[in-house]
Amino acid sequence: MSHSARSYAWNPWHGCTKVSPGCRYCYVYRQDAMYGAEKQSAEVTRNADFTLPVRRKRDHSYKIPSGSVIFTCFTSDFLVAEADSWRAEAWAMMRERSDCLFFFFTKRIDRFMACTPEDWGAGYPNVCVGCTVENQAMADFRLTIFAQLPLQHKAIIVAPMLEAVNLLPYLDATIEEVSVGGESGAEARICDYDWVLHVRAQCVEREVPFRFHQTGAWLLKDGKIYRIRRQFQLSQASRANLNYRIGADGKPLL
Ligand code: SF4
Repeated sequence: MSHSARSYAWNPWHGCTKVSPGCRYCYVYRQDAMYGAEKQSAEVTRNADFTLPVRRKRDHSYKIPSGSVIFTCFTSDFLVAEADSWRAEAWAMMRERSDCLFFFFTKRIDRFMACTPEDWGAGYPNVCVGCTVENQAMADFRLTIFAQLPLQHKAIIVAPMLEAVNLLPYLDATIEEVSVGGESGAEARICDYDWVLHVRAQCVEREVPFRFHQTGAWLLKDGKIYRIRRQFQLSQASRANLNYRIGADGKPLL
């Protein structure tokens, strides 16, 4: 997946219910709390922006230009059961916009096959799914399922990282990227830098691209706990210089 393409956020629905330990301080709940009590985070509602990917300008061209990456459903979980009646329309928009890449994360990969449209086949070529895992139990449960799914693009998201994880059984050439991040927010749990390095080493061993996307609010490194303010969590992760990429020739870019 290209990180240089123009990107857009599309949130067809809002709200979600908590399913696993990584949900404890869910950012959707935290953001809603920041904006007051108008939104009930556990109530899943369809957004006014529902048709955003197929909206057109006056000249009839799409508002979202061809070649864009559309980050999908970041204020909910795309596979949440409460959105089952809306998802067919969402898939249809993705199919119509085959000129854009849609990328969503989910903690409900076990629902995936119950949620696919009839013409899914081996997967739409313009959809990338990130299977989110936060600890070893969730990695073992979700990635075993993920490995079997018909998808053209797969990523593993280790976030919020809550403990050391062994992903080696699940790292193969079908995984386009492993992205790791610590937890944000006032009550965030500590992320140990050694856990991050450990996953990176697994990715290098299997030649799977790796990205450290954010430090989280508390990072344990060399025996010291660092408090990292929200605005620096992405840049500090990038400064750690851990990203591992594979070139077009299939060789690592070190
Ligand atoms: S699945 Fe994602 S969006 Fe839903 S409660 Fe958990 S962290 Fe929040």
